[in-house]
Amino acid sequence: MSSNFPLNKSQLDNLIKDFPTPFYLYDEKAIRENMRKFTKAFSIFPKFVEHYAVKACPNPYILKILAEEGCGTDCSSLPELMLSEISDIKGDLVLFTSNETPAAEYKYAYERGNLINLDDITHIDYLKKHLGKLPEKICFRYNPGKDKQGCNSIIGKPEEAKYGLTREQIIQAYKICKDEGVKHFGLHTMVASNELNPDFFVDTAKLVFELAVEIKEKSGVRIEFVDLGGGLGIPYKPDQVAVDYDYVAKGIRAEYDRVLVPAGLDPMEIHWECGRPITGPYGWLITTAIHEKHTYKEYIGTDSCMADLMRPGMYGAYHEVTVSGKENAAKDHTYDVVGSLCENCDKFAVDRKLPKIDIGDHIIIHDAGAHGRAMGFNYNGKLRCGEILMREDGSFKEIRRRETIDDLFATLDLDGVKNFK
Ligand SMILES: *Cc1c(COP(=O)(O)O)cnc(C)c1O
Repeated sequence: MSSNFPLNKSQLDNLIKDFPTPFYLYDEKAIRENMRKFTKAFSIFPKFVEHYAVKACPNPYILKILAEEGCGTDCSSLPELMLSEISDIKGDLVLFTSNETPAAEYKYAYERGNLINLDDITHIDYLKKHLGKLPEKICFRYNPGKDKQGCNSIIGKPEEAKYGLTREQIIQAYKICKDEGVKHFGLHTMVASNELNPDFFVDTAKLVFELAVEIKEKSGVRIEFVDLGGGLGIPYKPDQVAVDYDYVAKGIRAEYDRVLVPAGLDPMEIHWECGRPITGPYGWLITTAIHEKHTYKEYIGTDSCMADLMRPGMYGAYHEVTVSGKENAAKDHTYDVVGSLCENCDKFAVDRKLPKIDIGDHIIIHDAGAHGRAMGFNYNGKLRCGEILMREDGSFKEIRRRETIDDLFATLDLDGVKNFK
């Protein structure tokens, strides 16, 4: 568990009087403080930009807070581009890293001066065909294939991944764009997901820096920014340790000095597109225990389900669970803490040692501030919960209401069906 829940029992009870469970709670102060730490660590580079991955928490209130802390966004779809604009994040602070992209989405990003990161060499012609020309600034996503080892299981081996261009293709791609008159270039890679080993990122930076030098030698293109993607992990489990931003920044700086500076590639901008470490530890799913069941195992049934938080059910991901007011109680019970979906994988925790849980207890599921509500769905007719922001002054603001049955039925023609035979 990577961050302490900010409310004691009576504060949470009071909040729940106004906002019944389930809901997500985000801590504005903690998000800002964390972002400042991240920015400070990377201030040892001539220019640093964090493009927050919108998919991690696509709420414009959160994006506005991050924008105030200097962040841009990383988007992979039209609605994410639109959310950036709504949050006053504009121009080349918005990076469009998409794959299998429809022409209309490229067009939208291009018209707004957003940075376009191409996923394939064939997209050069695709852009020319649909935009009539190429943007002044272009980035390509590099897939290192077998050149990058040790990638973890969520994202898999680079050579099996659908993303990005090979080494030969990417050098060719920069040549083509230079001949077509493109003026400014970036180089992107993302080969990790939820990685906690800081040396992994230093090694990735080294690989990309060396490629930037090779691109300069072989195509004459001067890469101006390197985007290291996302994938910085968070310590979901109590025995895991958070990635030390300073260690990563200093390690990357050493490679920068060793590889880029002698090659005449200084200054080089360093970009990231992290989602998880930026908001993940500072968001919680708050639920209430509504059933207790004793069969072959002990179950606690909550008023939420994996439609609100899919990670445990989908990847068996671990999320710390605590019980409000029982933080210091002995963990002398073993429970499966479950949701109401008609799928047996709908378990927030399995065989988890917890204090004795009583009906009505508020159960807090930690580290849900990224890839939490965002991954929600409506299967089984489940209505996704809302989101509440705890402001820096301790007040609360509902930043997304919970879904209603009208929302769920909005795509159905309910009048039409009455006459349907
Ligand atoms: C998902 C994703 C990110 C963010 O990943 P985190 O693990 O949340 O940091 C960044 N860039 C791309 C291209 C992604 O697909």
